[in-house]
Amino acid sequence: MVSRVIPVDNFDLVIFGGTGDLARRKILPGLFRRYHSGQMPPEARIIGAARSEMDRKGYQAEVKAALEEFVPKGSRSDESIKGFLEGIDYVTIDAMGEGGWKELSAMLRPDVVRAFYFSVAPSLFGPLAERLHGHACAGPTCRIVVEKPFGRDLESAKALNATLRSHFDESQIYRIDHYLGKETVQNLMAVRFGNVLFEPLWNAQYIDHVQITVSESVGVDGRGAYYDKSGAMRDMVQNHLMQLLCLTAMEPPSRFDPDAVRDEKLKVIRALDPVKPEDIVRGQYTDPTKGRAYLEQVGDPDSRTESFIAMKLAISNWRWAGVPFFLRTGKRLKARYSEIAIVFKDAPHSIFGQRAGQHRNVLTIRLQPNEGMDLFVTIKEPGPGGMRLVDVPLDMSFAEALGPDAEDVPDAYERLIMDVIRGNQTLFMRGDEVEAAWAWTDPLINGWTERGDKPLPYETGSTGPEEAAMLLHRDGRRWREIRP
Ligand code: NAD
Repeated sequence: MVSRVIPVDNFDLVIFGGTGDLARRKILPGLFRRYHSGQMPPEARIIGAARSEMDRKGYQAEVKAALEEFVPKGSRSDESIKGFLEGIDYVTIDAMGEGGWKELSAMLRPDVVRAFYFSVAPSLFGPLAERLHGHACAGPTCRIVVEKPFGRDLESAKALNATLRSHFDESQIYRIDHYLGKETVQNLMAVRFGNVLFEPLWNAQYIDHVQITVSESVGVDGRGAYYDKSGAMRDMVQNHLMQLLCLTAMEPPSRFDPDAVRDEKLKVIRALDPVKPEDIVRGQYTDPTKGRAYLEQVGDPDSRTESFIAMKLAISNWRWAGVPFFLRTGKRLKARYSEIAIVFKDAPHSIFGQRAGQHRNVLTIRLQPNEGMDLFVTIKEPGPGGMRLVDVPLDMSFAEALGPDAEDVPDAYERLIMDVIRGNQTLFMRGDEVEAAWAWTDPLINGWTERGDKPLPYETGSTGPEEAAMLLHRDGRRWREIRP
């Protein structure tokens, strides 16, 4: 298979927060990988902008160290690092003051794509936007990229949107959710809308239920105080899981273009029924080792913030009437494992009799580890012994199907940043989507806060509280295994 890397236009990308954790771990390594693969034009420039006093050379040394730490050896060479660093610049800047802005303005070139990555705390978005305009850095064609958390409730999200929109048009705002940049997530759309095979079956007539699992094995380690103010619902469900749900459940958009896709996603959020308290299970991890239990790590023995949540949702429309969507996400679970599973209904009549057992088609879209898809189909077990049936996966792992090219499948961040440069907003959240997701989330959080519900304990390394299993068992269903 021939690798087809389509170069993007020349650009100036300013990373506010260019010395921060996200820039070092994700943004700069992602940009480097695109450079290494030949997608970035040689004249492209990346300008780190942060508070630290540093010159260009000093920042280049920091970037080099970050690349050596976060880009695997096989994906870099001394030569490509050297070439990449030539395009790196730095400006010491204060988002809250006037220092550095004149210098930044002088660095920017007039005739290239201009993008500003706000990799800083959301409280700095407003001051940054104001100064970008005040110092003539921003024009009608520039783009800004903003990171989660996008608000902590509907009110704060609306305020954040209003701040950004008072300086930029919605078409210039790229709200990043890196789950949308994953190869498999886009493949979900390709599989649904590029084949005749699935779409006719993608409805309540053939689908029994859908499971979306985002399981982490790590705890809140070191981020306890921050995490405790948010919890699994705000940190994961409102954004990442909601986006996966939307892409799974949306109607076919008329075109693969940003607003057509985002209109359909928005309709899904608006069609979500309110969730009954008995359809939500919240948990907090325990651990026998001192200092490793959730309550110890957040330093508050009375915390009622959840590190795990499982819920049963219903989408009120013709396509999904009566089809439950089960969502779960949590920390310190058995493994790092994320997938969307579409569980189809039983065949209407089994000609093989009871001995053949119960078999179901399941389509799984695996986000991590090993991005890929499996379609479980029922076949005859090979060998003698009569008609015994077995479910086997038709494996669509990219690594095998695409051969050596699969190793060059871009990471979510690199793909999304290249989309910013191309001016393609399809995989970014629109302001009204974010607000609709909060409008659905807020009453649930308010409900358990007002009732004073306490999360249930679950053991580190488990699959969450027992009660989460009951969410499905009571309807005769079961969660799919979380596989290490
Ligand atoms: P960080 O604390 O590591 O870095 C913050 C950066 O902002 C530094 O470069 C600092 O110099 C700069 N900064 C702070 N105050 C400034 C000011 N007044 N003027 C100019 N620069 C200033 O933070 P981070 O982990 O890199 O996160 C950045 C943003 O990305 C946050 O909004 C965070 O919520 C979000 N985010 C981070 C991650 C992650 O994995 N780190 C993941 C998702 C979202």
